[in-house]
Amino acid sequence: MNVRLFKPSLGEEELNNIKDSFDKAWIGLGPKVARFEKEWCGYIGCKSSIGLNSATAALHLALTSFGFREGQKVLVPAITFASTAFAPVYNRLEPVFVDVDEDTVSISMEDLERKFSKDCVAVMPVHFGGHPANMDMIIDFAKSKKLKVVEDCAHTAGSSYKGKKLGTWGDIGCFSFEEKKAMTTGDGGMMCSDDEELIAPMKACRWVGIDKDTWKRVEGYTDTKALDAMHWYYEIASLGFKYNMNDLSASIGLAQLKKLDRMNADRSRHIERYMEGIRDLKNIKPLLPFSPDKNSYWLFGVRCEKRDELIIHLKSKGIATGVHYVPLMLFPFFKRWDNGCSISKRIWKEFITLPLFADLKNEEIDYVLESLKEFDRKY
Ligand SMILES: *Cc1c(COP(=O)(O)O)cnc(C)c1O
Repeated sequence: MNVRLFKPSLGEEELNNIKDSFDKAWIGLGPKVARFEKEWCGYIGCKSSIGLNSATAALHLALTSFGFREGQKVLVPAITFASTAFAPVYNRLEPVFVDVDEDTVSISMEDLERKFSKDCVAVMPVHFGGHPANMDMIIDFAKSKKLKVVEDCAHTAGSSYKGKKLGTWGDIGCFSFEEKKAMTTGDGGMMCSDDEELIAPMKACRWVGIDKDTWKRVEGYTDTKALDAMHWYYEIASLGFKYNMNDLSASIGLAQLKKLDRMNADRSRHIERYMEGIRDLKNIKPLLPFSPDKNSYWLFGVRCEKRDELIIHLKSKGIATGVHYVPLMLFPFFKRWDNGCSISKRIWKEFITLPLFADLKNEEIDYVLESLKEFDRKY
């Protein structure tokens, strides 16, 4: 048996939406993106959303929207995907690595207080694996220090913390619809906020600086009621990027959004089965304090001292695994910002990510569990 690590759950609904965009012959930035943004606002419960081609772009523009001065500092967890820490660098800001909490692998409050300095202007918590960061404490801290909060929600979509949707706690929430994530548009991302004015200028930034969407302008090209010659005109007032979502991606996203709660529930069910199965193992422990009844997880993993041997054992059984993540300062590019973070540097060595996706079958989970048990018995 071969078991994949991640797999998107795709079907007729996505295809039908794509076909509709084909029939209209509009597959770039267009009305589907606008509809997806509107439905996303409704789903998450926020005032404004901007569809982008990735969460990497969302994190970049989220920091851009505050207009921070060059050289100011942004607090990011040491264990996360590179994009979280690239975002300040894109904006000529400095990332400051904050150690993670040993259990939840989200930003450590203790180290956050320690690493804060007067040059810090923002903090970017990551809900690692889908486990919510301590948003109430982070928000309190941020308020007391006048820090902006950008939530990196790339590991979660639709989950709540203390009754409030993740992505709506901070000033801006950033989501990923990359193929492997909680829901997908192939590649894609969304930035959302309750502060419409704050993120509105990012609509131009995502579309090469142009302040009007082409698809709205073209309607004016043939408008017989407005016989002016200026329908082609647009303004460029800011540095632009080509970061827009397109209607093909939005077609997939609109269908995925309808399935998101179901996919989250499926993943929760799988995690319950995994947790039950590993309960009595001696050398293999859950990666996170999983509570699938409360939270929606994107990732399931375990901790094992003999991590690399376990990876090889599972590989020999046809089971795909991963490691999320190497602490960023261990990479050459981020080494210059190495500032300690001893917990991160120790605990990641035991991390293994196991197969988890909505359509994962019970037989596949049981096969993974059997293989884990076999390994556990050997030690
Ligand atoms: C995947 C991921 C991103 C980047 O998402 P893309 O949509 O691929 O750009 C950012 N942050 C975290 C924590 C991620 O896991």
